Amino acid sequence: MLSVEHVSVSYDGAPAVVDASLRLDDGQVLAVLGPSGSGKSTLLRAIAGLEPLAAGRIRWDGDDLAGVPTHKRGFALMFQDGQLFNHLTVARNVGYALRLRRTPDAATRVQELLELVGLQGYGDRLPGTLSGGERQRVALARSLAVQPRLLLLDEPLSALDAELRERLASDLRDILRAAGTTALMVTHDHEEAFAVADRLAVMRAGGVVQEGEIAEVWRAPADPATALFLGYAR
Ligand code: ATP
Ligand code: MG
Repeated sequence: MLSVEHVSVSYDGAPAVVDASLRLDDGQVLAVLGPSGSGKSTLLRAIAGLEPLAAGRIRWDGDDLAGVPTHKRGFALMFQDGQLFNHLTVARNVGYALRLRRTPDAATRVQELLELVGLQGYGDRLPGTLSGGERQRVALARSLAVQPRLLLLDEPLSALDAELRERLASDLRDILRAAGTTALMVTHDHEEAFAVADRLAVMRAGGVVQEGEIAEVWRAPADPATALFLGYAR
C-alpha cells in the first residue's frame, strides 16, 4: 500500500506540490487528475524518488521511502511517449528487463504479455512500423514485464487522438485489472480518469483538493472543474 502524507515539493523554493496526501491500496488504480501545472507530474516524480521532498513522507506498506533510491523502490514508470528502443523488435523491447535479469522462460512471458495488451503476432515488428496506440501498448507490456509493485503512468494516452484515447482507456483499465497491477495514473482528462481508475485524487494549484472512490467524487465533487464535467451546474 502506498501512502503519501502531507508531501510538499519545491523547485528552487517555488512550491509545485503543497501538503498533498493520498492513499493507494494494493491492486487498485488511482487517477491523479488536474489541470496543467497543478503538480501532478511533480507528485509522481516524488513518489518515484526523482524529486526530493521539502516536507512530508511517502511510505510503502508503512516503510518510509526516504533514502530509498528510485531503482530500489520496485516501481515502474511509463510516460506519454513510451520511449521504446527503436532499434529493437517489439518482443525485445517487452523482454528487455527480463533478459537483463536472465529470467527463465522470458520468451514465453513475452508472448503472454503481448497477448495481454492485444498485440499477439507483433513480436518481430520494429517500433517505427507501429501506430501510436500500438507503441503505447508495447510500452505498457514492457512496464508490466518486471511485475512492478506499483506502476506509475504519466499521461500515458495523451499523445493519442481522442477516439483512440477513449478506446485505449477502457483497454488500459482491463489490462491493469487482468494483471492485478497497483497503478497511479496522472492525467488532465476527466473522461480518462473516470474510465480507468477506482479512486481519484483531484489536484489544483499543487494541492490535493479531493481524494476518494470514483462514486464518492461523483456524488459530491469538491472541485468546480470536476463538477462541471459531471454535469453539475456551479
Ligand atoms: P501538465 O499537465 O502540464 O503536465 P502537471 O500537473 O504535471 O502539468 P508539473 O509538471 O508537476 O504539473 O508542474 C507543477 C509546477 O512546477 C508548474 O508550475 C511547473 O512550472 C513547475 N515545474 C515543474 N517542473 C519543474 C522544474 N524541473 N523546474 C522548475 N519548475 C518546475
Ligand atoms: Mg505533467
